[in-house]
Amino acid sequence: MKLLDGKALSIQIKEEIKAEVEAIKASGGKVPHLAAVLVGEDPASQSYVRSKVRSCETCGFESTLIRRPSDISESELLEIVHGLNRDHAIDGFIVQLPLPGHIDESKINLAIDHRKDVDGFHPVNVGRMAQGLDSYLPATPFGILQMIKRNEIETSGKRCVVLGRSNIVGTPISILLSRKAYPGNCTVTLTHSRTADIKAELLRADIIIAAIGIPHFVKGSMVKEGAVVIDVGINRVDDSSRPRGYRLVGDVDFDEVAPKCSYITPVPGGVGPMTVTSLLMNTLRAARNEVYPD
Ligand code: NAD
Repeated sequence: MKLLDGKALSIQIKEEIKAEVEAIKASGGKVPHLAAVLVGEDPASQSYVRSKVRSCETCGFESTLIRRPSDISESELLEIVHGLNRDHAIDGFIVQLPLPGHIDESKINLAIDHRKDVDGFHPVNVGRMAQGLDSYLPATPFGILQMIKRNEIETSGKRCVVLGRSNIVGTPISILLSRKAYPGNCTVTLTHSRTADIKAELLRADIIIAAIGIPHFVKGSMVKEGAVVIDVGINRVDDSSRPRGYRLVGDVDFDEVAPKCSYITPVPGGVGPMTVTSLLMNTLRAARNEVYPD
């Protein structure tokens, strides 16, 4: 069994990005600038945004954090988005999800200029991804592809079972792994809450991507020998022995599943750090106008 160490890989990729930013600076080019909009006080969102801003600093990016209280109106938030769309100093920006219930997330998403949509959630980027055109890939699936690629894991002809059909993880990774490319060329089955027999589907999988948000859902008895298991889940479970009173666990029962795998990601330290790094990769591409040159 080989551990897919997302923390170590993300440090390596950030070093590569930092070297590229230094080269940009040395040649007098524009330093990448990422903006993040954080609404409300959700602890997980605050921690994700903090980590994104810290990573920008590590890589030499400029970053702007815009914080607003949870009672901000939808029209005020839309105004912020329009302002960021117009601001030539900003290469890319994200609006951290989830948003408070009175704000329509899809309305905000649609208002973001797709050329600055470094989260890759805008329908233009999703559509381009689905057609195999260059686009900003959603950060978590992009991070998963990087892990597969950098560890030279074979995907062609493999059976891949994705657990969960969210717009940010399950659905896009199922599209990406079925594309005619590397990583890709998999035969993908997308499973979800209405799938009749998830265990039977999982037992056929050479590659499992688990993204459902249920702690330790995938047990040893659901995984075949030699499978590659990518655990996207980040779930807080009570743990009075920890100073914070909780610990993070994945959607996979690591202790049971790891001995059967050829490769497995840990939680924490697997997909999570790669997600942040992918956002930086998208922002670097935005600063270079690579995806949308005009
Ligand atoms: P979500 O919470 O939006 O949706 C869950 C999906 O799981 C749905 O498609 C649903 O159909 C499916 N599902 C729910 N119960 C099921 C069941 N019993 N059997 C089969 N399918 C079931 O999904 P999400 O936003 O992709 O998040 C999934 C997990 O991944 C969460 O733990 C989240 O915190 C984590 N996550 C991690 C990262 C990262 O960077 N590592 C990024 C995004 C999400």
